[in-house]
Amino acid sequence: MDETEQESYAAFLAGRREEILQRISDAASRAGRDPSEVELLAVSKTVDVPQVDLAWKAGYRAFGENRPQELVRRLKGIEAYPEMAGVRFDMIGHLQTNKVREVVGNVTLVHSVSSVHLAEAISKRGANHGVTSDVLLEVNVSGEESKSGFSPDEVREALDGILALPAMRVRGLMAMAPAHDIDAARRTFSGLRELRDELAARSGLALSVLSCGMSDDFPIAVEEGSTIVRLGRTVFDPSYVLG
Ligand SMILES: *Cc1c(COP(=O)(O)O)cnc(C)c1O
Repeated sequence: MDETEQESYAAFLAGRREEILQRISDAASRAGRDPSEVELLAVSKTVDVPQVDLAWKAGYRAFGENRPQELVRRLKGIEAYPEMAGVRFDMIGHLQTNKVREVVGNVTLVHSVSSVHLAEAISKRGANHGVTSDVLLEVNVSGEESKSGFSPDEVREALDGILALPAMRVRGLMAMAPAHDIDAARRTFSGLRELRDELAARSGLALSVLSCGMSDDFPIAVEEGSTIVRLGRTVFDPSYVLG
């Protein structure tokens, strides 16, 4: 990007951020919620470090990556931008057990704990390195075969074992909704919230974090109780039309 392109991209990022915050705030008021309960995670997987820096300057303070190698590359890249020292990155994508070393200790929250095996690997790595990881359990609420995550029954069954792992704090649940189907998205988000309520009552933990809502469906997710929306295209892509 030359300087003029940078300026116009920075202006786009700032203007779009205001529009997104307005939609979050409108959706929260429709549901009688306080908009400050909703965190905005900018999913930076499609952009490079200079764009992340411009997003930081536009006001974003938390970023999400979906691949461990890319996460490590971003963290390395932002070392050239001292103002971003300590910026929050979360791991939101599918994580293989043999990649936990790239993630544990490098992120604020792992959204995508999708099996007992992975939970054990994260806890083991953390225990060996003095790191307790904050995590969400990813649940395949809609039951689509293409989606990873625990089924609701699997998470009911696995919860006590995961809660007993030493180097891990379970903060809540994460889900992805089916694409291009607003009614199914709403059912997914409300199903996630109801499952959380059930697991919280059973475990005595708050499980207060619900990570759900992406560019196409985040206002619905906020209406249904989301506390973290994960937005990629609508944050970074000027050609994405915010509905
Ligand atoms: C890419 C991605 C997002 C963001 O999707 P958009 O539709 O671009 O907002 C959110 N969550 C996960 C897990 C992703 O991989």
